[in-house]
Amino acid sequence: MIGATALQAGPVRSIRLVLPAQPNPVIERIAAVFTRQVAERCEAKVTISGDSPARVELVIQPGIGTEGFRIVDGTDGAIRIVGNDELGLLYGLGKLLHTSRVDQGGWTPGAWRGTSVPVCPIRGMYFATHFNNFYEVASIEEVERYVEDLGLWGLNSVVLGFPHWQFQGFDDPQAQRSIRRLKSIMRAAKRLGIRVGLGEAVNDGFKSTPQELLRTPVPDPWGRHGNFGVNLCPSNLKAHDVLLRDWGQLLDEFADVGLDFVEYWPYDEGGCGCKQCWPWGARGYPKLCREMSVVARTKAPKIQIILSTWTFDSPPAGEWEGLAKCLAQKEGWVDYILADAHEDFPRYPLEKGVPGKLPLLNFPEISMWGQNPWGGYGANPLAARLQRLWNQTEKKLAGGFPYSEGIYEDLNKVICGQFYWNPDQPAVETIKDYIAFEYSPDMVGDVAAAIKIFEQNHLRDHINPSADKAYELIQAVEKRLSPKARRAWRWRILALRALIDHELLKHQGRLEGEILKGAFDELTAIYHAENAHSMPIRPPQIRIPDTKRAK
Ligand SMILES: [Zn+2]
Repeated sequence: MIGATALQAGPVRSIRLVLPAQPNPVIERIAAVFTRQVAERCEAKVTISGDSPARVELVIQPGIGTEGFRIVDGTDGAIRIVGNDELGLLYGLGKLLHTSRVDQGGWTPGAWRGTSVPVCPIRGMYFATHFNNFYEVASIEEVERYVEDLGLWGLNSVVLGFPHWQFQGFDDPQAQRSIRRLKSIMRAAKRLGIRVGLGEAVNDGFKSTPQELLRTPVPDPWGRHGNFGVNLCPSNLKAHDVLLRDWGQLLDEFADVGLDFVEYWPYDEGGCGCKQCWPWGARGYPKLCREMSVVARTKAPKIQIILSTWTFDSPPAGEWEGLAKCLAQKEGWVDYILADAHEDFPRYPLEKGVPGKLPLLNFPEISMWGQNPWGGYGANPLAARLQRLWNQTEKKLAGGFPYSEGIYEDLNKVICGQFYWNPDQPAVETIKDYIAFEYSPDMVGDVAAAIKIFEQNHLRDHINPSADKAYELIQAVEKRLSPKARRAWRWRILALRALIDHELLKHQGRLEGEILKGAFDELTAIYHAENAHSMPIRPPQIRIPDTKRAK
């Protein structure tokens, strides 16, 4: 990245966005995202055709590097964003936006100038859509806006999973609702040129699956493989037929979206421990995935196959070795290997090489680690943890898909996304960029200090007196924020985290009192989690007896 900083001009009340001649719908959409972002954050208006003292010109000019961009000052006073391609334009506009000021009424354009090209080709996100979490129940417009916001930070791939185990079958109205929702999210991504994929727990089945088709439970002494109870044994011929038939139908349901990827999952959900299938990762799983890939590529010849190895060899069962042998014998049906685990990054692909000599992706767990309910206490920034896990991957990744259960880990998403863009950018630097944009460039130090304390107090039974310091910092910052920044959900989840930790410290960890109740209720409203499963999605509920209520 080559950067230089120019002098900032003062805030303006209007911005003219100059699109390329005959812009296509993707470029028009990118312009609309920028327009919405500015409107949400300050009083300035963006116009496509009117006149304005501030002009931002969008240009596509290949030769910069795939999905890269350049921001330069035009000779005519305009800021010129040159995208190598449409996504480059999106990320360039994101860079201009993220480095701009929006807290003084008008808009002060970002002063960053230079060229930036992403290092990792896959900068993804995996949205889990289950348990009535945010992605499943928020209004589709809200989820679409959220995908667009992440696009501005460099996201280029989104994968979503269809939770068979929640439904009776494809005809179940709830299943159809789920498919419509997944497709809406995918279309929002596609409108910006972001690629989309379907994550598939390969032997997960519908609730209505007959008992005799179900798997033999996998050995899981470490409790790492997950189990919702509806997994089929692909070595059972009838079950095998059902799995491939349902897979074909699922792909047909998504045919009109145009899937770019499928991502196969061995566990959590999945796996079979029968004599024919076990070790699952070495035998039943790759065999089934290969057959599913034939189905997928018959329907969509260019579709890319991502093979996940999530929790392989936990505990050791010869899964990595077995998969490597399978892929050495039968090549060409997988495009990427995805590896990760609940704790440290797996050593096998780093030390022995990636099976099939394929590009390697990660799957950092940004949502669930160390707190229950997930997101139940507000923002859960995990910069030190994510940096440590990133360092373990030794810059051998082609990108990855952080696992997301909601919006409370927004900052963790941006940290991971920036690792993929520039593997050398430390998480602490990304946090500063995030604070400057989402809150205010003037309060980076204080908010960063509070965020650091949040991570130190991440485990709920380890909240230290430093929680009061974080609370003080956040309260002082709040007074100085613009009204729009102060009301935004990204501030509320941070401010509520400070308040909750402060209250928990005061009450020795007990969930009690009107203040905590109010904080949890507000989080519930932000996540739309009123009907979410209490474990793991809905923030804690506190019932105050009428006799104790303040008059
Ligand atoms: Zn089996």
